[in-house]
Amino acid sequence: MGYKIAVIPGDGIGPEIVKQAQRVLDAAAAKYGFELGYTSLLMGGASIDANGVPLTEETVSIAKASDAVLMGSIGGDAKTSPWYQLPPNLRPEAGLLGIRKALNLFANLRPAYLYEELKAACPLSDEVIGDGFDMVIVRELTGGLYFGERHTEMVDGLRTATDTLVYNENEIRRIAVKAFEIAKKRRKKVCSVDKANVLDSSRLWRAVVEEVAKDYPDVELSHMLVDNCAMQLVKDPGQFDVILTENMFGDILSDEASMVTGSIGMLSSASLNETKFGLYEPSHGSAPDIAGKGIANPIATILSAAMLLRYSLDQDEAANAIENAVKQVLSEGYRTTDIASEGCTVVGTEKMGELIAERV
Ligand code: NAD
Repeated sequence: MGYKIAVIPGDGIGPEIVKQAQRVLDAAAAKYGFELGYTSLLMGGASIDANGVPLTEETVSIAKASDAVLMGSIGGDAKTSPWYQLPPNLRPEAGLLGIRKALNLFANLRPAYLYEELKAACPLSDEVIGDGFDMVIVRELTGGLYFGERHTEMVDGLRTATDTLVYNENEIRRIAVKAFEIAKKRRKKVCSVDKANVLDSSRLWRAVVEEVAKDYPDVELSHMLVDNCAMQLVKDPGQFDVILTENMFGDILSDEASMVTGSIGMLSSASLNETKFGLYEPSHGSAPDIAGKGIANPIATILSAAMLLRYSLDQDEAANAIENAVKQVLSEGYRTTDIASEGCTVVGTEKMGELIAERV
């Protein structure tokens, strides 16, 4: 079986980390008997340099025609890069927003997983960490407060600003379906997070999630208010499997959940549309401060590639093999500089990719 993968290496450390993710994907494909064909595409600063714009029609149409997109990261140093002298709609980040919109990526997945070997980087106490945690935050990405009508006006002589939080039932249903489908591939628990004691949009959210849950009798559904969830993430993170939530709550909670793992170079992410198609990228940026030095941690991108196999290609075994290979390399004591601790063997980007590919 063959799959078409669009690859956007991007800027800064992007090309270095994506190269290692492809190397690991190739090892998994060879072992599990499928083929991956790559098309490399420009976006962000690299596209500005070549085409004068951060995203071209060509990149969008090739991405659309592929089974999935693997991305590094885009952007440069805002203080020194000439890309940031351009108007906002022509800067690297506009490419990212543009492609998310063009591909209708409404579901954002951010796993937060604590590796036993990296426990020292976790800011929580051992007592709270317990046996560790392994959760995915499923955040609605194209609706809610960030996309509602907004304006600022004078009311009774006072400057008054209004933002609106709108969701219709279809928008809620499609993200809820995603969360339940993902839970089916995991520990079969969905915690839907809202503010149903105050907001109408949350009450509709809760009602629609309940309806969707009826189609997934094997998945356990619970509800939690967002303020409580913010507390529970630092009090008992081990209780969560899949957290399902709307755009703004997800924005805040996914950053909180990733930060409790303590290691930015380890955090993967995926953005999906209604089909199996998705764009997979690390949660971190293009790290211009270390670009070209060969020391970037490629693991977040490698784990994003594992998600690509699981969610877009249904190659679950190959995805598990990559995740287990990452665990094995860490337990053997190999680390890139960003996650290094005493007594470990520090390796560069390329060596880390090689070690993981070998263990797949
Ligand atoms: P950043 O995530 O690039 O870097 C923050 C710090 O973490 C830096 O010290 C960096 O060296 C370190 N770091 C990040 N990833 C690492 C890795 N894999 N291995 C080792 N160290 C790593 O955030 P920033 O400095 O705020 O942003 C830099 C650029 O990235 C900006 O142009 C920003 O707009 C862009 N950015 C892009 C995306 C994306 O493409 N989705 C996301 C966030 C930021």
